[in-house]
Amino acid sequence: MVSDERRGKKDVLNKTLRGLDNCLKEGILTGVATSVCQTNIDELLTEEWLQHLIQRGVHYAWYHTYRPVGPKMNMALALRPDQLVRVRKFVTDMRARLPIAIIDAYYDSEGQALCPMSTGVSHHIGPKGDLEPCPIIQFATENISDPRGIYATMRDSAFLKDFRELSAEHTRGCVVLERPDLVKQLVVKHGARDTTVRGTAMAELDAMTPRFSQWLPGEEIPEKHWMYRIAKKYWFSDFGAYRNANHGATAKAKVQALLAKA
Ligand code: SF4
Repeated sequence: MVSDERRGKKDVLNKTLRGLDNCLKEGILTGVATSVCQTNIDELLTEEWLQHLIQRGVHYAWYHTYRPVGPKMNMALALRPDQLVRVRKFVTDMRARLPIAIIDAYYDSEGQALCPMSTGVSHHIGPKGDLEPCPIIQFATENISDPRGIYATMRDSAFLKDFRELSAEHTRGCVVLERPDLVKQLVVKHGARDTTVRGTAMAELDAMTPRFSQWLPGEEIPEKHWMYRIAKKYWFSDFGAYRNANHGATAKAKVQALLAKA
């Protein structure tokens, strides 16, 4: 029911589970990614849900949190700061207890917030091969069909570099949620094209109201399980992306102001 409402189709959960079983039957590394929001948080943050996935043979569970962006952004679905902390706490607790890999991509081993785009861990390739800063920033100046090859194209992209650096300079959290004005500034500066089919990405950016994100100073929850602590320390940290940033009192005060409006 909740899945049908969110995806706008009928029988979404059953069809998804059938697809899941088909992948598992074929021996494919398979995970379940969910977007936690107000209407599913109480179901997804339960040991029963993860036990169900384990029994089906799923290899990993990925907890995204709903971000109000796009043509039909729905603020009422977005999590409150205390709920974001609840998600993080659940993930670190379950990682230490259950035999299933659990992914949340917004924190280092000490529980400090980070943005995978700013740290250079990931960018996004759209359905037409466009190289976008991240899945929710649907603008690009380059495409994977570039004759230089994908590695050189991504490495040398001034657009992607500017995004990493400007975002890291301003926040450890999500630049789209906290500073849509900066996203617009870079898109205009580089003359980036809208990569959406709907062609309304700039209007959607203009319609956004800045809000808090995963950066909640003082609410850091370090990893509990030794394996995640080590893995994150060496393979999923900020990799020095924030070393030139001034995330001191002024930046934190801005986050606190966004939180006060929450
Ligand atoms: S900009 Fe926001 S949505 Fe994109 S990778 Fe960073 S934290 Fe995630």
